[in-house]
Amino acid sequence: MNSPGQKRYMERLRLKVRGAVQGVGFRPFVYRLARSLELAGWVRNTSRGVTVEVEGDRQLLEDFLRRIEDDAPPVSIIQDIEVQWLEASDYEGFEIRSSQEGPREALVLPDLATCDDCRREILDPSNRRYRYPFTNCTNCGPRYSIIRSIPYDRPATSMSGFTMCPECRAEYEDPLNRRFHAQPNACPVCGPRIELWDASGCVIATEDEAMKEAEKRLLSGAVVAVKGLGGFHLMTPAGNTGSVDVLRERKSRRQKPLAVMFPSVESIRSCCKLSKVEEDLLRSPQSPIVLLEKRPDLNRDLVCDAVSPGNPELGVMLPYTPLHIILLFDLGLPLVATSGNLSDEPICTDEAEAVRRLGGIADFFLVHNRPIVRHVDDSIARVFRGEVMVLRRARGYAPLPLRADRELPAMMALGPYMKNTLAFSVGRNVFVSQHIGDLKTPQALEAFDEVCESMEVLYRAKPVAAVCDLHPDYPSTARAEGTGLKVIKVQHHAAHIYSCMLEQDLKPPLTGVVWDGTGLGTDGTIWGGEFFTVGEAGCRRHGHLRRFKLPGGDAASVEPRRAAWGLLFEMVPNPARLLPAGTFSREEERLLHSMVEKGVNAPVTSSAGRLFDAVASLLSIHQTIEFEAQAAMALQHAAGGDLCQNSYCFNISEDDGIFVVDWEPMVRDILAERDAGVNAGTISARFHCTLGEMIARVCSLLGQKNVVLSGGCFQNVLLLEQACLKLEAAGMKPLYSRLLPCNDGGVSPGQILAASMN
Ligand code: ZN
Ligand code: ZN
Ligand code: FE
Repeated sequence: MNSPGQKRYMERLRLKVRGAVQGVGFRPFVYRLARSLELAGWVRNTSRGVTVEVEGDRQLLEDFLRRIEDDAPPVSIIQDIEVQWLEASDYEGFEIRSSQEGPREALVLPDLATCDDCRREILDPSNRRYRYPFTNCTNCGPRYSIIRSIPYDRPATSMSGFTMCPECRAEYEDPLNRRFHAQPNACPVCGPRIELWDASGCVIATEDEAMKEAEKRLLSGAVVAVKGLGGFHLMTPAGNTGSVDVLRERKSRRQKPLAVMFPSVESIRSCCKLSKVEEDLLRSPQSPIVLLEKRPDLNRDLVCDAVSPGNPELGVMLPYTPLHIILLFDLGLPLVATSGNLSDEPICTDEAEAVRRLGGIADFFLVHNRPIVRHVDDSIARVFRGEVMVLRRARGYAPLPLRADRELPAMMALGPYMKNTLAFSVGRNVFVSQHIGDLKTPQALEAFDEVCESMEVLYRAKPVAAVCDLHPDYPSTARAEGTGLKVIKVQHHAAHIYSCMLEQDLKPPLTGVVWDGTGLGTDGTIWGGEFFTVGEAGCRRHGHLRRFKLPGGDAASVEPRRAAWGLLFEMVPNPARLLPAGTFSREEERLLHSMVEKGVNAPVTSSAGRLFDAVASLLSIHQTIEFEAQAAMALQHAAGGDLCQNSYCFNISEDDGIFVVDWEPMVRDILAERDAGVNAGTISARFHCTLGEMIARVCSLLGQKNVVLSGGCFQNVLLLEQACLKLEAAGMKPLYSRLLPCNDGGVSPGQILAASMN
């Protein structure tokens, strides 16, 4: 086919490949591909990615080009390929040339779950890496959590303190080896090691003995803090009610669901329903926590009720590092794997710090001496309509960028208050940080500052503007003002819409429906049940849920009964008699009245999240809550029966081009049904159905075909499904984020895009 006799028909192909193509086995892949097609030429790393030249028969070169895209290593990401056709230049054979130096722009990869080849090695008694907890290769292992700076070379990672042994070095230097330029390459001879410590930090056992001793203690019900990839987990057997209760007690986390790490897909299947897409997601290199529906016959010896009490779903993951694989393989039991932190604080990453902060929670510490450069939590995802939806974007996803449709000015976006993330724009890339969390504690603010600084270093970002929320009291707003850069403020809900537009590459005009808990509006009230129109000129609010007062302000976010009281106050002078008996004491009622009447500490809101709270309170589902959205989730989970039934009544009025959705007729119906003894499940189902109807009706009035659905409320898949069905039935197209969270975790990239419109 490719005989030398045809040399005069030869051509040369030059490719410049950009994206995440370094340290992922890209050059060996190109080398093997070129060899298999008998093409001559070379490949090398450059400052911007990888450059390849190959020459041979046109047909073969086209084949080569197609396969570069189709068969690229699974963890590489090709952003673009510049293709040039040139005259042949008589290359002999194919070689990997040494790297071209220069300032690097190649992407930093996220941490990736252990690949099948490495898994086989650590479970193979004849392999030199048998039971070695830090095994990795170019297809898997730590990246973002160990990088201090770029270029991504070993001295710039937390592996710098470990010198490769001759065997590891040989693998590292062999272009055909799976560990060619695998920066964290290590083995039992030269790499990091584990130890088991007691609660005061004294060493109990080392290396494989440490693993076995930790397992013994877990089997007897201890809580063990395990240092993993991007931080510590608190682990205990998920089937042991006693130890799960102890963990909850010590962590002061009584009701919030805990994630579970299972030894295998088979064991997951004995507890949860699992589709093919969900299984693929669990096994993916991102390996997130996946929210799955529990089976009715869930094996309670494996996962006790205390793990996610009263919740039909379970957050499930597979072991994603060799350390976790060995631990779970030995135990053969699912373990609770919740982040090693105190509530509202970031996850612990350092063993000394862990002993100090988690000493009162964990009985033992399984630690190692590979430093974690930055905290990276487990990501959380679910499957909706057969597709992945990321709800918390961290390990496996961060810090990969989103691509804008054009070059953006260099900016930094400091994100919202809750579920904070940061974003930086560099060229067409928008880099989004890992989940940082609520900026409520000094530790969280410290983490925020560290992430901000390290993103600037990693991407050599030179922002010319700092983008933040309108809210003057958010710490992120203060940080923006402290940068000395030009400050651009973006309304919270506008940022939600632009976030989805960035991810889904959507163009105006479109309608944006943003329903969430809270965000400051341009009119000084608290928004959260909003309808916008996005045009070329920007984003305009064109509708909202009818407003009500929230007596107690922030206190209302942990007391759904306050939202209920405020909602009813718009309807009747004495709301207490419509609430379930005993919801408030007489004294409390008087206080609520005086707050609302004097307008002191009773902000006005159009929040859909608070509407959910109010209905949950009216149905006696929750009067107070322990974690965000708990009441709304319980209301969603209560829904049962026919979801296609008639919805409740509601009104839409128009005032100066703004549509106001009046929920009062619906609330009256709900109260009547409640008092007639209709069960909460039926009412909840009709409530969700009605909200879908409200969304579709307002969007019809706004007249755009494309409708973006964003905001934390759309994590509620029942609401999302109802909204989608009703929009579709009315001929509109629902659109929502998949890779960015629809909750506040997605706000920072949206801030960037919104600010770039200025
Ligand atoms: Zn591997
Ligand atoms: Zn070694
Ligand atoms: Fe929000």
